[in-house]
Amino acid sequence: MERIYLDHNATTPLDPRVFETMAAILRAVTGNPSSLHWFGQQARATVEDARSRVAALVGASPPEVVFTGSGTEADNLALRGLAAAAPASRRKVVVSAIEHHAVVNSAKALAEEGWTVETVRAFPDGLVDLDDLRARVDDRTALVAVMLANNETGVIQPVVEVARLAREHGAAVHCDAVQAAGKIAVDVRALDVDTLALSAHKLYGPQGVGALWVKRGTRMKALIRGGSQERNRRAGTENVAGIAGFGHAAEIAREEREAEALRQGTLRDLLEARLLALPGARRNGDGPRVPNTVNVSFEGTEAESLLMALDLMGIAVSTGAACAAGAIEPSHVLRGMGLPRARVQGSVRFSVGRGTTEAALLRAAAAVAEVVERQRSRDRVRA
Ligand code: PLP
Repeated sequence: MERIYLDHNATTPLDPRVFETMAAILRAVTGNPSSLHWFGQQARATVEDARSRVAALVGASPPEVVFTGSGTEADNLALRGLAAAAPASRRKVVVSAIEHHAVVNSAKALAEEGWTVETVRAFPDGLVDLDDLRARVDDRTALVAVMLANNETGVIQPVVEVARLAREHGAAVHCDAVQAAGKIAVDVRALDVDTLALSAHKLYGPQGVGALWVKRGTRMKALIRGGSQERNRRAGTENVAGIAGFGHAAEIAREEREAEALRQGTLRDLLEARLLALPGARRNGDGPRVPNTVNVSFEGTEAESLLMALDLMGIAVSTGAACAAGAIEPSHVLRGMGLPRARVQGSVRFSVGRGTTEAALLRAAAAVAEVVERQRSRDRVRA
């Protein structure tokens, strides 16, 4: 059975060119980047070369890029690090309702430590409500966090406006760009934020490597203490091969993004048209989107059952739901957009990628039609 992978927002396969780079580094570069001898300097040069490439992807200057162990760690570092460095008069954090758990749970941890945390709602089209944001940000706000592209709907958020509102009150701004980088153009200066999170494995790089861009001069406390690596922002010997892979993946993304965005956008639109033609199908997220993502609710279905049935047919998709303590928790993102529980329960995310072909998509669309109809007719028999 030929398997079809439509879950590129969960992770992307490692680009074979990136694999070759990593393999070569693992073989040849054996030093510690902090060592002063030749071996160390080889490793240092490898890391710095990758830093330049990652910086170039987002219009940053290399010294502002801090490598981390994941996108999650980058989000944690931003929220907790910025909060810890804020003046005592600012004890409030404002985050959107549709953030990734990396941000949601970092904010939760701050709340447990006595911070005031406020959540900005989103509209049913998937965009954060700027009026609600305006009402919550004040001169006691330490930081505001709003993502660039949502992982479940793909909807691109008005981060420039968010940053402008936050600046009016002197608050710092964090932007989670994990799902945006490599899919749309990202420019840290144009966004005018203070920190921006990235993750290698969402752009055909390795898992377990991330980065936080930190604007020069930003006051931020380190989370991980130890040596003076990453300009004292993140201690620990660098993951040299992983970072080199991230650098190469970022470079490929920069060079090939525009052409791929066009190609994937066309494929996504084709899939979307087929899915929305099914009875009771509705798109979740009508705002402007990244080109590879579509989230659809199939009325009267359970997304987990659809996912399992599709998996048996060789097709990998995802639901926004997470299994928490044995219970299926409906997506906080779709709930945060005010969508009814039943619609959320029947929602499936499809995310295409570099390897996706038209033939595969057509097969996937036909399989979805089949499993949706099968689940509905079974329910009709039971009723
Ligand atoms: N932020 C967003 C929007 C994501 O989609 C993800 C991953 O799903 C993360 C953060 C976390 O990145 P990582 O998997 O590298 O920890």
